[in-house]
Amino acid sequence: MNKKTDIIVVGGGPCGSYAAYTAVKHGAEVTVCEEHEEVGGPRHCAGHLNISSLKRLGIRVPQNVIENIIKGAVFISPSGKQFVLRCRDPVTYVVNRELFDKQMAEVAMQSGVDYRFKSRVKSLVLDSGSVKGVALQGEKLKANIVIDAEGCSSKLLKQTGLKGLKSGMVARGIQAEVDGFEGIEEDMVEVYFGRNVAPGFFAWIIPRKDGTAKVGLATRAGNPQEYLHRFMKKHPVASERLKKSNLTYTSVHPIPMEGPLPRTVSSGFLAVGDAASQVKPTTGGGVIFGLTCAQIAGKVASEAVDVQDFSETFLSGYQRRWKQVAGFELNTMLRMRKMLDSLSDRRLDNVIGLCSRLGVNNVLEKAGDLDFQGRSLISVAKYPGTAAVISYFIFSWLTSTTRQ
Ligand SMILES: Cc1cc2nc3c(=O)[nH]c(=O)nc-3n(C[C@H](O)[C@H](O)[C@H](O)COP(=O)(O)OP(=O)(O)OC[C@H]3O[C@@H](n4cnc5c(N)ncnc54)[C@H](O)[C@@H]3O)c2cc1C
Repeated sequence: MNKKTDIIVVGGGPCGSYAAYTAVKHGAEVTVCEEHEEVGGPRHCAGHLNISSLKRLGIRVPQNVIENIIKGAVFISPSGKQFVLRCRDPVTYVVNRELFDKQMAEVAMQSGVDYRFKSRVKSLVLDSGSVKGVALQGEKLKANIVIDAEGCSSKLLKQTGLKGLKSGMVARGIQAEVDGFEGIEEDMVEVYFGRNVAPGFFAWIIPRKDGTAKVGLATRAGNPQEYLHRFMKKHPVASERLKKSNLTYTSVHPIPMEGPLPRTVSSGFLAVGDAASQVKPTTGGGVIFGLTCAQIAGKVASEAVDVQDFSETFLSGYQRRWKQVAGFELNTMLRMRKMLDSLSDRRLDNVIGLCSRLGVNNVLEKAGDLDFQGRSLISVAKYPGTAAVISYFIFSWLTSTTRQ
């Protein structure tokens, strides 16, 4: 084995880079192993990120990374009913994920993180049940701690004996780009529901400032390419928006939907981001919660380096802290996802129609952080309009004939 480093991070995605950056800032020596020859590709994500959450994390997004600034969303029901939620102030950035990931890595490198590109980690190196490094093609790297930020496969995590992602709870997401759109306000995204549109998920159209758009969907059943083709060509609303546009890019990638993994640490090992399923089960958004947990992982790993304690007991501090910050939220969103899954198209039509009729957009604007949907739900539940919608939602779930 080569020289030992304090921490090896597997994967140079946003969560890997942010964990590495945080650990280096706290004095640890960190190497990131990334399988590709550079970070950011192939781009698979819509890059729709909440501005206030990025600020809370202290992440500055340069202008050239921002493709658009969004003030709200139009929710379109299976039968075409629309509910418009427009806020006064900007709510989200649409970022170019390739440039965003590069920027995160650049900041980490400038802070002293060492990146090894074209370095695919084949397995963990274990000694008496503790992780002691990683094995690459023809080479082993020693470390006191490995942070697994490999994304949705969670292969390494399973090697430690921890439970990985359940295959039945992984959606297949398709992210496409088109060269134009019509009839969408430039600062609004459109979200489409329906079992024939995207079973177990939703479809989206996200305009960019340059007149192009990101179009995508995810599904837990069937072929995402076929659903995308049907969405763009046959959906009564979306096909009108996209009738003159051509596809310029597509990519398919998994999205973990089961809520966070219960155990994310073992001796000498921490898992973050998609590898730990720290993804919102309602929307599939994994960047903000992944970064939130990666920051905690970087801190706890560097604290372990300070005291030279790499035991599971010490590293469990990571698990405790991320659960305090994100556990309630992710688990509430998992319940919301299960409720949504159980609603028939007719009930979804009713929910969206009800939101529109009761004017709950004014209330939802006060909801606060879009990422912390559990807390937001509690804060708006006292208003009569939203209380009615939530009650109908729960009633529909309880009485749903499709519930398993
Ligand atoms: C269609 C789609 C749309 C999405 N839209 C959004 C959105 O709008 N907003 C949002 O917040 N989230 C979105 N997501 C989810 C988001 O993309 C992920 O949650 C996020 O990328 C997770 O970051 P990560 O760093 O954990 O993993 P990743 O971004 O997957 O990065 C993992 C990195 O590890 C590398 N790697 C993997 N295995 C190895 C190995 N063995 N050795 C070395 N390197 C390795 C990979 O090459 C990659 O660079 C979307 C996902 C999909 C599929």
